[in-house]
Amino acid sequence: MLDAEFFRRWMTVTAASVDREAERLTALDSPIGDADHGTNLQRGFTAVRAALEKEPPATPGAVLTLSGRLLISSVGGASGPLYGTLLRRTGKALGAATEVSREQLAEALRTGVDAVRQLGGAAPGDKTMIDALVPAADALGDSFAAARAAAEEGAVATTPLRARKGRASYLGERSIGHQDPGATSSALLIAGLADASG
Ligand code: ADP
Ligand code: MG
Ligand code: MG
Repeated sequence: MLDAEFFRRWMTVTAASVDREAERLTALDSPIGDADHGTNLQRGFTAVRAALEKEPPATPGAVLTLSGRLLISSVGGASGPLYGTLLRRTGKALGAATEVSREQLAEALRTGVDAVRQLGGAAPGDKTMIDALVPAADALGDSFAAARAAAEEGAVATTPLRARKGRASYLGERSIGHQDPGATSSALLIAGLADASG
């Protein structure tokens, strides 16, 4: 079973990998965006890590809803509200339980991903974070390792796609041939989940 400490570890491991990969995320956001994705997420997860250290929430759901709220208030841009919604809605779906199973988390994550789809209007294949998150939520029903691999594959598979949502869509055909920054950071988030599991 996964307790609040596990979810805190997930967020802090992700914060560390976002720190490590910030330059790469920003570089990916340069040819098909405005070169701020790494700094945006670094600002957000720094705020998340600080808040979770200061006042650790007592339940898995509360860890995610607090983290989501902080991402919304600190990140800005397209990705702040989208990642914020993902974590808030996933947290809300977990309710007030003090421990949840991986299967329950997979179900909650699917709810969170659906909320992101509704907010941003992106479908699979539109070259966004959705292309990593949808397969990851599905594969999490099998294992943490399967979710990590599915997210990474989904992110890599955005390269040949033409962007239909977000800034990259303004480029039309010229968005082809670049990996989507948001799908790449989503793969980091899911890798953080797998790392937290051991
Ligand atoms: P901004 O584009 O405002 O500078 P970021 O650079 O932080 O925001 O994030 C860009 C990422 O957000 C994209 O790579 C994409 O994955 C994701 N994104 C943008 N618009 C949408 C959307 N409508 N639905 C889902 N994801 C989106
Ligand atoms: Mg950007
Ligand atoms: Mg921006």
